[in-house]
Amino acid sequence: MTMITNHLPTAELQALDAAHHMHPFTAGNALGAKGARVITRAQGVFLTDSEGNEIIDGMAGLWCVNIGYGRQEMAEVAARQVKELSYYNTFFQTTHVPAIALAAKIAELAPGDLNHVFYACSGSEANDTNIRMVRQYWALKGKPEKHILISRRNGYHGSTMGGGSLGGMKPMHEQGGLPIPGIVHIGQPHWYAEGGDMTPEDFGLLRARELEAKIKELGPETVAAFIGEPIQGAGGVIVPPSTYWPEIQRICDEYGILLIADEVITGFGRTGNWFGSQTFGIRPHIVTIAKGLSSGYAPIGGSIVCDEVAEVIGRDEFNHGYTYSGHPLSAALALENLRILSEEKVVDHVRDVAHPHLAAKWAQLADHPMVGEARLVGLMGSIALSPDKTRRAAFAAEEGTVGLITRERCFANNLVMRHVGDRMIIAPPLVITPAEIDLLIERAWVSLDEAAAKVRAEGLW
Ligand code: PMP
Repeated sequence: MTMITNHLPTAELQALDAAHHMHPFTAGNALGAKGARVITRAQGVFLTDSEGNEIIDGMAGLWCVNIGYGRQEMAEVAARQVKELSYYNTFFQTTHVPAIALAAKIAELAPGDLNHVFYACSGSEANDTNIRMVRQYWALKGKPEKHILISRRNGYHGSTMGGGSLGGMKPMHEQGGLPIPGIVHIGQPHWYAEGGDMTPEDFGLLRARELEAKIKELGPETVAAFIGEPIQGAGGVIVPPSTYWPEIQRICDEYGILLIADEVITGFGRTGNWFGSQTFGIRPHIVTIAKGLSSGYAPIGGSIVCDEVAEVIGRDEFNHGYTYSGHPLSAALALENLRILSEEKVVDHVRDVAHPHLAAKWAQLADHPMVGEARLVGLMGSIALSPDKTRRAAFAAEEGTVGLITRERCFANNLVMRHVGDRMIIAPPLVITPAEIDLLIERAWVSLDEAAAKVRAEGLW
């Protein structure tokens, strides 16, 4: 068999990919027929594909490459760690320096008394940990009947049985027997799509109070926790109205429900603070982390746990963990990533430079005839595509048709922008410069113009 390297022609790589590689969240046969785009290298905020195109990555991979691609320091840390301690586990009363150092650093960065870390390898795994941890917490407190977790429709918490069940993604629930028992969903704070004639503030309260109603319906003595993303990411970068999180906080406090903030996307600088909970004034008991923790250089995730929950969980053996919980290579890379974020003041860069620069230009996109609203918090943004912005109207075509057309024009113009239904979303690396933001916006305008022309030509508008 020939060596498979970057030097093979694109068509050959695509044929091998189609023959042997099953892609996540993909209709495999259709992709196989078309051929996947082959990414061969990446530096800073730019990807290079097998045809030599330079693509600006408006999504930081999957919302994770916060420090940008290809950092030399990360390569050096990886080499050093593999030589020193390539693997050891943290089961059976052992530990190692990368796991210790990273947990201490995360505790230093996290707000309040979130001082303890349980490691996983991904956001999904961390949320599976959370399901078991909150139930075990209440069991140890003598309330095993407090076992139900409440989450939101169109929330995203991962793809495992637990994570996919916590998530409120209908197409996921339709496959493979989700959700698992003991997980209940309420409405999302998506004012643009569902708020009708209400003010965003009233709608935010309405949706938050669905939590209160659900707790009363189930009985507070049966509810263990509420979980939510400070800003829904995969659901379309849905920024909740300002009234939403304070009301959720009040309800969790009042009914004695644990609050889990899933910060897999919003953690580590994305919203202009270290954590999205700080941006929205949320005081969670547990925070889910992954992605930006290592900027995607190695798989790692975890749960940051407050003093009280950690103390209770520690009273007995917690029969849970992963072979790679706190993997030394991942932990060392995460630690170096946090050093870079801290020493290069990347979170300040988001807040003081990149966000203001992008915000001005992003808001102007709302002037495009096909754009109904443009939202941006930190470096997490979305635009709603609409045939009639005065009514926040949806296209007559099946939802996602126009979004897909727009995404394809972006891709053709060497810009990665993702679509969720008919919303276009971005989350570029946090180190993006003003000049790179200008390029991103330039390509976004061209792509929107081309997409609008195509939508009209196809009679969809
Ligand atoms: N939670 C949130 C909020 C996410 O955005 C994601 C991934 N997009 C996950 C959990 C799952 O993380 P992973 O893909 O690492 O399992």
